[in-house]
Amino acid sequence: MRKQIAAANWKMNLSFQQADQLLNSVVDAGIATKENQQVIFAVPFLYLSIANQLIGTVKNFNAASQNCYQKKEGAFTGEISAAMLHSMNISYCLVGHSERREYFNESNEILSEKIDRCLENDLTPIFCCGESLTIRAADQQKTFVETQLRDSLFHLSKEQITNLVIAYEPIWAIGTGKTATTIQVQEMHAHIRSVISNQYGTDTGDKISILYGGSVKASNAKELFNCDDVDGGLVGGASLQAEEFIQIIKALKC
Ligand code: PEP
Repeated sequence: MRKQIAAANWKMNLSFQQADQLLNSVVDAGIATKENQQVIFAVPFLYLSIANQLIGTVKNFNAASQNCYQKKEGAFTGEISAAMLHSMNISYCLVGHSERREYFNESNEILSEKIDRCLENDLTPIFCCGESLTIRAADQQKTFVETQLRDSLFHLSKEQITNLVIAYEPIWAIGTGKTATTIQVQEMHAHIRSVISNQYGTDTGDKISILYGGSVKASNAKELFNCDDVDGGLVGGASLQAEEFIQIIKALKC
């Protein structure tokens, strides 16, 4: 069975003390994850070290970076490289979140470089894709997402692409409280899997975990995660409350 993943994306939220408390609360819940389940906390860079310390001994819990720079090293003041993350024992990195694409002008081409840096440094990229409301209204979402995948991922070898997680996040559902329907979610996830399978073979398409993101909460997680091609979720707002996130973890397929 594919890896089932509950990934928290804290974005630019929480003080150090709040972060510490939240991580402790989730750890103290003593959730017994199954072999195929993974819990990931994408925390601000500053908190990666403490996150690693607090969750490091919990089975199947991992800290993740929310971003990395596309160059290997050098005079890029304020940036963080994939190699630095690797040297801190970080094993996952979000790539191409819609907020990065929109506010920091990250193009599909830049994201393809970030994917390369991650893979060179044994970081599993969680590649985010998804359409705006305008694109959905024009019924262009499948072609749009396919282009995102093609432009940022299809230079990878078959072996490389299996070391990657995809998160489908329709922009109109992020932080809006408006969740996509299970029909819309399953349809897009199946499409993403078929795009990968057509390029790399069904064996590869079947191996890749595809997460859904967009207003996932404790009350809708189970229904969303139960869709055939949904392998968990990338969770923003609801991951900032321990009890909500604990329930979301518990909603993962076994
Ligand atoms: C996200 O930031 O990736 C996200 C899905 O946010 P939210 O859960 O708040 O919609």
